[in-house]
Amino acid sequence: MHLCHNPLCCFVPPYIADNLKDSDNPVVRQIALASLGNEYRTARRLLGTLPVVTSLAGLIAGKERYVFDMDGDSDPLPGKLLRKEGDPPSQDEAVNEAYDKSGDVYDFYKEVFDRDSLDDAGLPLRSSVHVGDTFGGPMSNAFFNGQQMAYGDGDGNLFISFTKSLDVVGHELTHGVVSFTSNLEYYFESGALNESFADVMGSLITQWKNKQTVDRADWYIGNEVLGPGAKIKGIRTLTAEKAYENDRDFGTDPQPKHYKDLYTGPRDRKGVHINSGIPNHAFYLVATKIGGYAWEKAGPIWYKTLLALNKKSKMKDAAEQSYTIAGTLFGSNSLEQQAVKEAWDAVGLTV
Ligand SMILES: [Zn+2]
Repeated sequence: MHLCHNPLCCFVPPYIADNLKDSDNPVVRQIALASLGNEYRTARRLLGTLPVVTSLAGLIAGKERYVFDMDGDSDPLPGKLLRKEGDPPSQDEAVNEAYDKSGDVYDFYKEVFDRDSLDDAGLPLRSSVHVGDTFGGPMSNAFFNGQQMAYGDGDGNLFISFTKSLDVVGHELTHGVVSFTSNLEYYFESGALNESFADVMGSLITQWKNKQTVDRADWYIGNEVLGPGAKIKGIRTLTAEKAYENDRDFGTDPQPKHYKDLYTGPRDRKGVHINSGIPNHAFYLVATKIGGYAWEKAGPIWYKTLLALNKKSKMKDAAEQSYTIAGTLFGSNSLEQQAVKEAWDAVGLTV
C-alpha cells in the first residue's frame, strides 16, 4: 500500500504512514515503510518545483468535466479518457463517482460563492481514477498535482476508493481554488492554512450536498474512505476531539486545536496537515456559534478570507482578515463578527 506518489496536496498525510510503520500488523508495517521511502525520494525530487497551475481554461465558461482511467498505473497521468461532460454514465463506478462529485464541487462553488470553477473562468475539471502506486499496487490516497485530481482505489483494508468521499473531492479541488487565489505557500503556517481551507470547504460541500445544519454535520474529514480494517472515525475532525487515539494502526491524531500547541518540527512540511487543526477548529466554533447552515454565513466569511490572504499569510492574518470581513458582511459587533472573534480567541489567536 503506497500512500501517495506525489507528496504535494495529498489527502492522507505522511504522519499516517509514519504511524502505520509502527503497526502491530507486519503487512501494514512493511508497506508503510516502502511508502515512506518512496515519498521522501519524491519529495526531494519535487522540492523547488511546486506545482504551477497552467492555463487549461476552456473556451467557454461553465462546468466541464473529464474523467480518465489509469487502470492501476501510477504514471503518466492522466490515462485513458472514459467520460467527458454530458456523456452517459460509464460502467465504471469510480469514474462515475469522480464525475458526479467533481460536479457537486463545481455546483457548490457556483451557487454558494458565484465562482466558475477553480480559476473562476471555467477551468475544466480533470480527474484520473484507479491510480496505482509505483510498486504496482493501488494508491491509498488522493492528490491534486496543480493540474488535475488523482484518486487511488485504496488497499481494501484500511482504505477503500478515494472517489467515495465528497469531503476528499472537495478538499482536493479546493487546493486548486487556493492556487488560483491566495496561493498559500505549502509550508508551515501558510501551508496549514492551505490545508485548512481544503478541509473546511470539503466539509462545507458535504454539508451543502446533504442539506445538513451545523448540529447534523459529522465534522469528520475522510470517514467515507476508511475500509473495513480501519477502526477510526475519520482522518481528521474539526471538533475539539481527536479523530482517533491509541489506534493499533493509526496511532493518535496529532492535530492541535490551540495555537500554543503549534507543531514546529520538520515533518509534513513543518506540519501542514498537523497545524491545520487550529484554523479548522476556529471555523467549527464560528459555524456552530452562528448555527443553521454553515455555508450561508460562516462559509462566505471564510471564502472571502481566502481571497484576501497571500502566499505568506499566517494564522494571525487569517484571524484578522476574517474578523474584518465578518464586520463588512454582517455589521460591526454583529453576532457573526462576535462569533469570529470568540472562535479565534478560543484557539489562542486574539484579534
Ligand atoms: Zn490537502
